[in-house]
Amino acid sequence: IQVYCFSCDLSKTLFEEIRASLNNNDEEDRSFWRPVLPWGGVFTIKAGRKALSCTPLYVKINLKNTCTIDGFLMILYVILRENQGFPRELAVFLGKQFVEYFLYLMDSCDYTTVKMLWIWDRMSRRQYRSEVRKTALEIDLFGNEHDNFTENLESLMSTMQESLCTNWSCPARFQEFIKTTINIRHLPHRDPIKSAVDLHFCPKLLLCSELGCDGLREFSQRVFCHGPPPFVILNMQQWKSEELSYVPYHLALCQHRYLLEGATLFNKEEHHYSAAFQIDGCWMHYDGLRSDNLILLHKPPELLLLSSLIYIRASDK
Ligand SMILES: [Zn+2]
Repeated sequence: IQVYCFSCDLSKTLFEEIRASLNNNDEEDRSFWRPVLPWGGVFTIKAGRKALSCTPLYVKINLKNTCTIDGFLMILYVILRENQGFPRELAVFLGKQFVEYFLYLMDSCDYTTVKMLWIWDRMSRRQYRSEVRKTALEIDLFGNEHDNFTENLESLMSTMQESLCTNWSCPARFQEFIKTTINIRHLPHRDPIKSAVDLHFCPKLLLCSELGCDGLREFSQRVFCHGPPPFVILNMQQWKSEELSYVPYHLALCQHRYLLEGATLFNKEEHHYSAAFQIDGCWMHYDGLRSDNLILLHKPPELLLLSSLIYIRASDK
């Protein structure tokens, strides 16, 4: 049986379609012509012959509160399609099969399956709530997008910093600290994001915190464990966005140049995440709950209520 997909044009990737719609956009219509990655989702389990032999517990999976992964899945897709070579690099961390299937599902507009892929392949069981209701399994992703997405990128952003205590009798003179995420704390400074990032990576001298030690601890420059990653996510949750003067478009991380690609935003009142990202310099806003969920913005977004900033590695050219 030949199956036709009327909702998507398989000769073009979803990314190419979005890019084409940016170029053909007129003033009246600033939304992409069809919904992309809508909030929630219903996944129907295809019962095979084996299913007849036992009573299935459920035949459907209902997804709830998926905004904690939706914005990032959208940005991840754009990053991978926009940068040749990034899928191969990400495959080292997440597996070749995962990356290929992810891109295939997004290009096929199979949005519920792409979320199921993330949930089953990347998330651990303790990261979401699930319960059986009548004939459906409900998976609720209510929570924090850093727990649900950023934490599940394996060692992609792992950085390491060594430290040595000046006190010879220190119980743990030499130490190695590995961090798998990059948290940005607010600093009272003129150029706060750059300073906070520099502080995260730079060598420093602190009082040793080992019990009974009064030495000084020298921290080396922090380095990426597996080389500079194709993209980095800065966790901005602890940032006071009302004090944010501007978001830098370029960042130097470990001697590599990174460019701002997008951001995820968090609305506290609604406990809802959305995302903004750019393609060819045009900024778009994505919100899975809206009916027109991908819209073109007239100007770069304000980037208030930040949850994350996403930077991609600039090519060496
Ligand atoms: Zn010490």
